[in-house]
Amino acid sequence: MRVRVFERSRSTEGARPFSRYHHTVPERAALYRRYRPQTFSAIVGQEHVTRTLRNAIASGQVAHAYLLSGVRGTGKTSIARLIAKAVNCPNTKDGEPCDRCETCVAIRDGRFLDLIEIDAASNRGIDEMRDLRDKVRFAPSMGQYKVYVIDEAHQLTTEAFNALLKTLEEPPPHAMFILATTESQKIPATIVSRTQRFDLRRIPHKGVVAQLGKIVGQEKLEADPAALDAIARQAQGSLRDAESMLDMVIAFANGPITLKEVDDLLGASDWEETAALFDALAAADGAKGVELIGRLVDDGRDLRLFVRRAIEHARALVFTRATGHPPETASEQMAAKLTAQAQGISLDQLAKIAKRLVETEQHLRTSEGTPLPLELAVLDLVTSSEKVAPPPDARREADRPAAARPPAPPSTRAEPRRDATRGSVVAIAERRVVTEATITAGATSPVVKLETVRKAWGELVERAKERSVGKAAQLAKAEPLAIDGATIVVGFGEEFARLLWQDKRRPELEQDLSEILKTAIRVRCVRQPGVPEAVPDDPMLRAAIDTLGRPDRIMEIE
Ligand SMILES: [Zn+2]
Repeated sequence: MRVRVFERSRSTEGARPFSRYHHTVPERAALYRRYRPQTFSAIVGQEHVTRTLRNAIASGQVAHAYLLSGVRGTGKTSIARLIAKAVNCPNTKDGEPCDRCETCVAIRDGRFLDLIEIDAASNRGIDEMRDLRDKVRFAPSMGQYKVYVIDEAHQLTTEAFNALLKTLEEPPPHAMFILATTESQKIPATIVSRTQRFDLRRIPHKGVVAQLGKIVGQEKLEADPAALDAIARQAQGSLRDAESMLDMVIAFANGPITLKEVDDLLGASDWEETAALFDALAAADGAKGVELIGRLVDDGRDLRLFVRRAIEHARALVFTRATGHPPETASEQMAAKLTAQAQGISLDQLAKIAKRLVETEQHLRTSEGTPLPLELAVLDLVTSSEKVAPPPDARREADRPAAARPPAPPSTRAEPRRDATRGSVVAIAERRVVTEATITAGATSPVVKLETVRKAWGELVERAKERSVGKAAQLAKAEPLAIDGATIVVGFGEEFARLLWQDKRRPELEQDLSEILKTAIRVRCVRQPGVPEAVPDDPMLRAAIDTLGRPDRIMEIE
């Protein structure tokens, strides 16, 4: 059962000015489809790639195989299609397709017979590659080049790669291959060496904000700059995610898009919490740190997500400390806080904290639900940082109890206050483990029927609606797909929505479902089947680890 909460049309018929994006794409198609760039100059944030490609096309020096690598939403598919367009358009100018001729229009409409897109996630075997090898010999039927785009190319099997390699070794002159991947390290070196490789960057914050602003303008809508800023921050350099989020916000915003609506839909920014953690660490105040974790646990928050945000915060502090100014993605308040905090923490200490946080994230992965690894990390970090003077601003903080108290060993300070609030670390940990065991014990056969869950979904959406219209809208679009023991597998159409619910909102979803279905329920959030672009691991975490693992690269991140 699907419940559509928001069906309000978001455009006024007839009032739309001419725009080249709206020729053929249906009015209600997703924003990222309608605003898919149709020329190289419309690609956001990948100038290093588009410039090289345009030069090559203009001088007739195109390669027979390209490898486009980058995280999701950075423009791989768009660039692949643009290459197909540019090599087949008879009217290119400076390597840019005209976007008007029959060929350009056919490619834009997805009916150009010589552009063949293969999704390697579902066609990963040798048969598909053999088929490709047989068909590639035939001359193109409409244009000059037959262009094969292999999406998620890393998913091909070894045999399929071998078959593809044979074709790449002796490609017919009219054939061109474009491999797109989120995981280039999984592509065999033999294949990579036969391609010209381009690494797509995460799209800079400014670029994402500008593109969102452009869309809002073209859609004749109004948006608070802070709202677009917040969407761009959440999207983490993926334009596609940003556009999908904007789509959702537009769908339920009544009038101008404000920060409040974005917060309601995507969850308020949690940087204040990570800032509080770093205040505690800089002040060597273990009690404060552990108390903060306790609050998160009590609120049913996902600690792994918190740690990942803390890693981001560490990264921002390293940046601020190293360059003397906060990252441009930081809001005004956050920038002020980062500047103050960076003064009080040395790079050495930050490196130690970041390393420990990355380890803790791993530990939390295997000890799901237990806050112990994070609590121990905080206590370790404050005991090992005795030599570092606390930052002046942390000392001055008004809400810090017994500020005049001389520094005592943190562990002794931590214990009494914790007991007073919510029991010892260990007791909490045990309680959580028991809950875990109870739930997983009966996980052999489904505890409820899928049909029952589907029927209960409307009630779930209604419940969510009482708390947040934005959450309800996302749940209404989601769908229970399967049940494995006590775990309900929930499909989400958008990757960012899946991440959000899997990482951050799972506890509330589990609680609601447990109450409605009157049995302990766990939830796993997946991408809806049939929706392309699977993301096997978390790009946000990977980026953080990449950066922190190679401090020499920090200056490059922008
Ligand atoms: Zn053209």
